[in-house]
Amino acid sequence: MTVRIGIFGGTFNPPHFGHLRSALEAREILGLTRVLFLPAGRHPFKREEVLAATHHRLAMTRLAIAHEPGFDLCRLEADQEQTAYTSETLAAIGCRYPDAELVFLFGADLLAEMHLWKDWQRLIALAHLVVLVRPGFQGAWATTDAGRHFASRRVERPEELQRQTDGHGFLVQPVTMLDISATDLRARALAGRSLRYLTPEAVVAYIDAHQLYRP
Ligand code: ATP
Repeated sequence: MTVRIGIFGGTFNPPHFGHLRSALEAREILGLTRVLFLPAGRHPFKREEVLAATHHRLAMTRLAIAHEPGFDLCRLEADQEQTAYTSETLAAIGCRYPDAELVFLFGADLLAEMHLWKDWQRLIALAHLVVLVRPGFQGAWATTDAGRHFASRRVERPEELQRQTDGHGFLVQPVTMLDISATDLRARALAGRSLRYLTPEAVVAYIDAHQLYRP
């Protein structure tokens, strides 16, 4: 049986139940052996002043996934001094797991900006690309540059995802998208409001203990 490894990248600034729920559903639907949570290090597009230090985001991600045995932390990008690019990261993970099929999981917001990433056309050679969307938004991919580019590799159902000699598949997968964002969590922390039930209790406690996202 093919081992399939999901890769869920993000800034995780902080991680929240939106990330966890959609990663869990993706794992079940796509039959992923594990999902690697891949916190970004220095991020090419995010403003540094609102980005908690990498060691804090790693610690929060570790706490967030601690109770789900199918989830692992991948430090590959976080430990890198220079800016990490997804194409290079996927290639490195592929070398680590030569017998596995890689599945790169991401939200529709990232699909819209993917054509700005370094070597983005190469991604489909390295992994299946699975866009996680809220139910009813399956069509939105078609208006993006990357979506149009990968349209010829598109499959309708998870069972149809198969690695071919000339590349992987592109799937738009509906999952429960809780209406939670890290931006909103940071704004609440800044305003001294509670983060409970938006992210695991251990992450709430960590943010409080380290006074993250406060002025
Ligand atoms: P920010 O608000 O700071 O932009 P974010 O909440 O969108 O952060 P990221 O770390 O930037 O979180 O996102 C990591 C991945 O999780 C991306 O692929 C993004 O599309 C996806 N994602 C973000 N929010 C949700 C959510 N509520 N449900 C499911 N997936 C999400």
